[in-house]
Amino acid sequence: MSEYGFDTLLIHAGARPDPATGARQTPIYQTTAYVFRDADHAAALFNLQEVGFIYSRLTNPTVAVLQEKMAMLEGGQGAVCCSSGHAAQIMALFPLMGPGKNIVVSTRLYGGSITQFSQTIHRFGWSAKFVDFDDMDAVAAAIDDDTRAVFCESIANPGGYITDLDAAAKVASDAGLPLIVDNTSATPYLCRPIEHGATLVVHSMTKFLTGNGTVTGGVVVDSGTFDWSASGKFPSLSEPEPAYHGLKFHETFGPLAFTFHGIAVGLRDLGMTLNPQAAHYTLMGIETLSLRMKKHVENAEKVAGWLEGHAAVEGVTYAGLPSSPYHSRVAQICPKGAGGLFTVALKGGYEACVKFVDSLELFSHVANLGDTRSLVIHSASTTHRQLSEEQQIAAGAAPNVVRISIGIEDADDLIRDLDQALAKASA
Ligand SMILES: *Cc1c(COP(=O)(O)O)cnc(C)c1O
Repeated sequence: MSEYGFDTLLIHAGARPDPATGARQTPIYQTTAYVFRDADHAAALFNLQEVGFIYSRLTNPTVAVLQEKMAMLEGGQGAVCCSSGHAAQIMALFPLMGPGKNIVVSTRLYGGSITQFSQTIHRFGWSAKFVDFDDMDAVAAAIDDDTRAVFCESIANPGGYITDLDAAAKVASDAGLPLIVDNTSATPYLCRPIEHGATLVVHSMTKFLTGNGTVTGGVVVDSGTFDWSASGKFPSLSEPEPAYHGLKFHETFGPLAFTFHGIAVGLRDLGMTLNPQAAHYTLMGIETLSLRMKKHVENAEKVAGWLEGHAAVEGVTYAGLPSSPYHSRVAQICPKGAGGLFTVALKGGYEACVKFVDSLELFSHVANLGDTRSLVIHSASTTHRQLSEEQQIAAGAAPNVVRISIGIEDADDLIRDLDQALAKASA
């Protein structure tokens, strides 16, 4: 399969006509359990000596097609689907971490990820050090003996900033650590982090991959290239697993160690499983990923360029604009374009932003991104309203900033809607 082009993989990777019925489209296997051939077959499956379906908390044929497709689209060896993007982040960290261990993460992250890493993971005894990833010396300096991973977004929230993944991968690799890249905003159409040295790629499939705001889902893709046994820092993968009679995942499964551990231990015990209905919606979305992303980028370039020239606008962060400090990284990291996500700062401040968001007719004010529909959110009065103004500014969500996720409508209609709302906001 891997000899095929990206658009062919979108349609065919992981999928084949259903062996039982010949159904051409991947069926939704709406079942919890699977009949064992006999007791020996059941024992072999439970011992991980044979691969097969036992129970849908671990594996399901519809979800398996999506896992194989995502692994191929990202150029990885294996993938584990999860119930949401946030579940995927915990599933990515789970085999690597332990009490007292930390991750070094970028300050430019999705708001929910900032909360997950700065607050919730403390309950597991894990912690995160937030660093500006435009300063790779600072990233290297933040790594200590207890660091187990380096984490960033390829095209980062909320401003569409582009991370120098090659530099981040070098810092991680020099320290003997895996680089985890959240590739949600870029999708593998725009950026393939494994080609830049990433070990693991995580996605919220809720966004551009499914593409139309219907279901939540996540995935962890493993490059299969990291040596989990080299340092003794990753005992879950390199040391005997008591729950499987002392099996060593890395020794037994090689480049599939992370994926097998994710299913056999992670999904088994954490239960953050993607259901087959949700996998179906995501499989439908992925078929048109290239067509949609092309239009998202084309529209974002037009709209961001128009907004930048508007008298009521203080600035636009879109990396596709020559004025962006991240513009020079487009060719290196995401040569097909800088995505569909950016922020706009209004001269009228907080009040103008609220008026602007309330006056839009075609754009929806929602806490989501990566939809076929164009979406906005005024972070300072919603997702980031609990933060101090100083924290809001550091997160790229200053009071005068609105985040925009450009859909695949006609760009001229989007511009007309923005124009009338800006007129009302600055009146
Ligand atoms: C939405 C999002 C997440 C979280 O994903 P959910 O599916 O909402 O759990 C993580 N990272 C990024 C970049 C996102 O946009």
